[in-house]
Parts: sequence; C-alpha cells; structure tokens
Amino acid sequence: MSALAKNYNRRKISFKKGKGSFLYAYNGKKYLDFVQGIAVNSLGHANPNLINAVKKQTKKLWHVSNAFIIPEGERLAKRLTQKTFADYVIFQNSGTEATEAAIKVARRYFYSIGKPNKYRILCIKNSFHGRTLAAIFASGSKKMTEGFGPKVQGFDHFKFDNLKSLKKSITNRTAAIMVETVMGEGGIKVISKKFLKELRKICNKKKILLIFDEIQCGIGRSGKFFAYEHSNVKPDIVPIAKGIGGGFPIGAVLMNKKAASGMIPGSHGSTFGGNPLAMSVGNAVLDQIFKKGFLKNVQKISKYFHSELKKIQKQYSNIIKEVRGVGLLIGLQLYNDQSKFINKLMDNNLLTIKAGENVIRILPPLTVKKKEVDLAIKIIRKVCKEYKT
Ligand code: PLP
Repeated sequence: MSALAKNYNRRKISFKKGKGSFLYAYNGKKYLDFVQGIAVNSLGHANPNLINAVKKQTKKLWHVSNAFIIPEGERLAKRLTQKTFADYVIFQNSGTEATEAAIKVARRYFYSIGKPNKYRILCIKNSFHGRTLAAIFASGSKKMTEGFGPKVQGFDHFKFDNLKSLKKSITNRTAAIMVETVMGEGGIKVISKKFLKELRKICNKKKILLIFDEIQCGIGRSGKFFAYEHSNVKPDIVPIAKGIGGGFPIGAVLMNKKAASGMIPGSHGSTFGGNPLAMSVGNAVLDQIFKKGFLKNVQKISKYFHSELKKIQKQYSNIIKEVRGVGLLIGLQLYNDQSKFINKLMDNNLLTIKAGENVIRILPPLTVKKKEVDLAIKIIRKVCKEYKT
C-alpha cells in the first residue's frame, strides 16, 4: 500500500527512464510521451545540454542564499528581460508561487502609491493559477476550493470571453486583471487576440495592472516565446514556471518597471528560488529556445500537427468535437468524458492527459520530430477507428 496521501488518482504505470519524446516503463513498454510532465520538459527527457548544465553546476555550487549576489540568476533575469516586456524578475520554485508573487507585486504597487484599497484581483471563473490558498480562490472553481475555507478575500471573477461580464466586474478596488493567455487546465481555451487587446485598453483606462499567467503556455510552447506575443499586447506582470526549468523546479515573476516599483527589500523572498543550480538549468534551457530557428520550428511542426489532427477530426466528427490550442499546446475536445479515449491511447503507447471540457491535452516536447508527430497521428487515428462512443 502506498504511503502517499490520496490527493492524486495515479495511473498504474511508472517509468525507469526517458529519452527525448519517449518514456520507458517498468512494464517493458516504450511510450511516446505527449504529456512531458504537463508542459514541463520543454526540451524532452534527458536532454544532453541540460544534463551537462546540471553536471557542471553540481560540481561547483548548488545553493547560496539570496542574501548574496547570484551571477547565474543575474544572467537568467537579464536574458528574460532583454527578450520580453519585462524590466525585473523575482525567482521562485513553482508556478503557484509565481502567481502568488504576481498578486503580491500588484497589491504592493498600489499600496506604494498610496492606494491600499485598490487590492482586488479579477480573474476568469474556473481558471487555474495554482494550488496555494490564494491561487485556488483566484481560480474561483468550486472543485478546487471546496473544503478549504474560509475563503481568501480579494478575488472577483468574470466569464471567459465575455466583455460585458468583465466590465461589470471591475470596481475602483480592482488592482489587477489576471488571466491565463491560454487556459490550460480549463480545456486549452485560447483567449482571442481581440479580447486581449480589449483587456489592455480597459486596464489602461481604469489604471489597472494586467497579469498574463504564462506558466503553461509560455517559454516557446505557443510558437512564440510568450503566447501573448501573438497579439502584440504587452502585460505588466507575467508569472512563469514549467518550461523554463525543462524539468527542474523553477518559477519566476516578470514585471515592468512600474509594477516592480512597490517591491522593496523584505517585501518578498524565497529560500530556494533563484539558486545557482536552478539558474544554470534555466540558462541552459534558454540557450536552446533562443537559438535561431528554434521557435520557427515549433511553429512549423505545430502547424503540421494541427492540420493532421483537423483531418482526423473531420473524418471522426462524431467522436472529436474540436481541435483546440496554439503551437504545441493542443487540445482534442470530445463530446463525452475523455478518460476512455486517453486509456486507449495509452494502450497504444501514446501518453496524453485530461483537461476541462472533455479535452485531451497533447503536450509534446518543443523538440518533437516530424516522425514522432506522425506516430501520434497514426495512433490517434487507430483509436478513433476502433472507438465505440
Ligand atoms: N498557472 C497555470 C496556468 C498552470 O497551468 C499551473 C500548473 O498547471 C499553475 C499556475 C501552477 O503551477 P505549479 O503546479 O508549478 O504550482
């Protein structure tokens, strides 16, 4: 019997090693891994460059306190700001810490300009920003918050893609609007460019900070470094995690000068966040993602993947309702519960994972090869053919 608490419904399989897009299970089978730790292993399993970075750094220095200057973190922060809207970075260890930090940055900004009553954070109903107490109440989903009262105050909600609902929910106490640029857990729901532009306009008009949660859709997954870049809209604050560590736990919050102005010594911190080992891995991830042609290739291969999936959807429109997503953040929405389909894919050696709205999430590494996409397409088509609704 497992001594782990039962907060997960784990699949009855475990793995002894991984290489690129593949996982090798103890049952002797080889799986095409299109979960990749839920959009974490951006460069696949056992990436040689990441292995080298870890090896090199472990021999030198693992951890020192943020009470000292950490050159590896200075470098990673500089590179993140040079490529994006941001002027400053705070490092964390996970996504939920990054969203917490984003909320703190927004509130501290208004406090620092003498408006402490402007503290409320407006989010999309049933979004996902992590599992800390504040983050679950930010998400506003009954399932995640049930049993975890009393309610953490300070969050309001509006309906996805509903401008009227958004406008109605803004008050003079609203400090920030926080949305996932592409809603991952909720079912790979892409916020339209038009809506993102509208968000920026409203935030400017009402003097509200704009937070784009890029934890799942950022770091190249959408085909651009950040998913919001597809819209030309610039946010004020962006929490990141997952892909930036390529499997090593790293989170961060990026912010512009204005948003960062409230953060003074002592206003936030982390024991582990930004340590030399984590930062070396983050830099090694960026070495590859910033390589010329890397993101172009993500765009090219994802375009091919989407078009092949759309062909399957057309052929089996009685099973697959919609192909969703952007870049290598892909969702197949079924008409009914998707668990049986996911199990059939696994029986055929393809690993995928659930999201909301009956969606099967498909998250290959950003380094996926065409022949691996072709293999996935073959398996999905076979399962469709054999599937009884
Ligand atoms: N925000 C988004 C959009 C996410 O997808 C996730 C994780 O799935 C989180 C926040 C929380 O990240 P973590 O699980 O690293 O705490």
